[in-house]
Order: sequence, then structure tokens, then C-alpha cells
Amino acid sequence: MVRNLLVLGSLKEKNVKTWLVSLLIILVVVATVVLVNWKTTASTPPPEVLAREVTRIDIETGELITLPASEWIEQGEKDGLYKNPKTGKYTTDGIVICESCGKKISLRKSKEGCPKCGKPASSGG
Ligand SMILES: [Zn+2]
Repeated sequence: MVRNLLVLGSLKEKNVKTWLVSLLIILVVVATVVLVNWKTTASTPPPEVLAREVTRIDIETGELITLPASEWIEQGEKDGLYKNPKTGKYTTDGIVICESCGKKISLRKSKEGCPKCGKPASSGG
């Protein structure tokens, strides 16, 4: 009985090993495909996008800061706000231009209306 079990065990072990190797190969293939897809879709934007200058507004000071997109990415982002390189705080937001008076307003503050003319500044939504 014990010997039978041992034989059965070694046979099973062989099958398990073959199965594990196959599984490993499948895993490697899947991981490679996922990595390649991730690299091509979610990695850095094309150079022309990175070189484009982007103006953002500091929601605390109202200061306008223009940097190439690549440098904004380097500053880092938190809750949709990029870091202000001068203050080191995550306070710079995208800009919305008021349709009525042309004032540049932060994307967040635009929801409350234009601070200059009081009209709703957000054109989107
Ligand atoms: Zn306005």
C-alpha cells in the first residue's frame, strides 16, 4: 500500500512538474504581452506632446506658470494638481478661460463661476 502510494506520488509529481512548466510558460507569455501593451499605451507621451508648453494656474496665489509638459510631469501630480516648482506645493491646476471676460481661471474654481465677472466660466460639461 505504501509502495503503491509512493509510485503514484512520483507519477503525480512528474505530471505536476510538467503542468507547472506549462503554466510558467503561459505566465511568462502573458506577462510579456501585458508589459508590451503597457509600455506602448501607458508610457510617456510622444516627444511633440512633451515639448509643448503648458500654462497652469496656482490655485492659492493665482500665479500663471508655463512649463513644457515634460517638466510638469517631472514635478509630479496629486489629486489632479501639479506641483508648483516655486512653492513645492501641489497647487497648480489647468486653466479655463472665461467666455464672457477672457479671465484665466483654475479648472476647479471655474465651477463656482468667474471671479471677475461672476458668470459661469465652464464651457464644458
Ligand atoms: Zn469672467
